[in-house]
Amino acid sequence: MALDAARTRLIRLLPKVELHLHIEGTLEPEMMFSLAAKHGIALPYASVEAVRAAYAFHDLQSFLDLYYAGCDVLRDRSDFYALAMAYFARAHADGVVHAELFFDPQSHTARGIELGVVIGGLRDAMGDAERRYGITSGLILCFLRHLSEEDALATLAAALPFRSELVGVGLDSGERGNPPSKFTRVFAEARAAGLHLVAHAGEEGPAAYITEALDLLHAERIDHGVRCDEDPALVDRLVRENIALTVCPLSNLKLCVVKDLRDHNLARLLRRGVAITLHSDDPAYFGGYIGENYRAAAEALDLTAAELIQLAANAARASFLPLPGTVSKLSSLGTTDPQ
Ligand SMILES: [Zn+2]
Repeated sequence: MALDAARTRLIRLLPKVELHLHIEGTLEPEMMFSLAAKHGIALPYASVEAVRAAYAFHDLQSFLDLYYAGCDVLRDRSDFYALAMAYFARAHADGVVHAELFFDPQSHTARGIELGVVIGGLRDAMGDAERRYGITSGLILCFLRHLSEEDALATLAAALPFRSELVGVGLDSGERGNPPSKFTRVFAEARAAGLHLVAHAGEEGPAAYITEALDLLHAERIDHGVRCDEDPALVDRLVRENIALTVCPLSNLKLCVVKDLRDHNLARLLRRGVAITLHSDDPAYFGGYIGENYRAAAEALDLTAAELIQLAANAARASFLPLPGTVSKLSSLGTTDPQ
């Protein structure tokens, strides 16, 4: 059913908190070409249209192959700044008030880019975004799970001099065959350093990976987590312990986690009491930023105004950098019936 004007307007006006956004996944084809030209890099695509045409993914790995190729145009501090500023401009237009950005240091250090260049460029943009748009933000360093835990441990050690620039660590990349249990030591070290902990789990991997992320990694939020309902006891636990699932509907559709958004379980889980939040994952590749994820989910699943407000309030509560004004406003919205 098409979205009515009232819900369309509500989605536009809702203050949004972005908790599942890979900054490298906001690289639009136009910027990919301009940075490639700047650095004299030959791209394997003839045009912006040819890049977009390549965005027909059949699973997570087919996306990751293109995603890591795109990262190669990010070379200097001003590239990371430009990438993040372009994201913040879009986020501002979508009503984002706070964003916790994932970044993948290993995708850059493996190419000889220093960690300080990556973090420096992103932090420059985060400061300017707060001044220009009033958007506050934090950085979450993600370990690539298809690599070894030793590589993750070395990455964490290299990142600790930048500890004050980070809010937490996460776990991303190809999930199948790379369970959370592979990263127990590095998460224990990050925890000891006082970093918040999140992990992708239950996107393509089984519900058991969500349980592992909670019990072995002490993850405070689960990214995706949509396969939780294969284990009813786990769903009960998510409700009981108020663990947020950062769900990305358009990503799930584009990577064939669901065939049709009308089949997505996020509405059912939300109505069951799970702290579902809505986000955009890798929006340049998946066809929409956070506002579009809200609109697509609302239309496909006929989410009510109260449910849309609940989703936004859940994200504010699940964030790691509380903004007293915004969080209390959103939290009160989410606990009262607006009808
Ligand atoms: Zn993700």
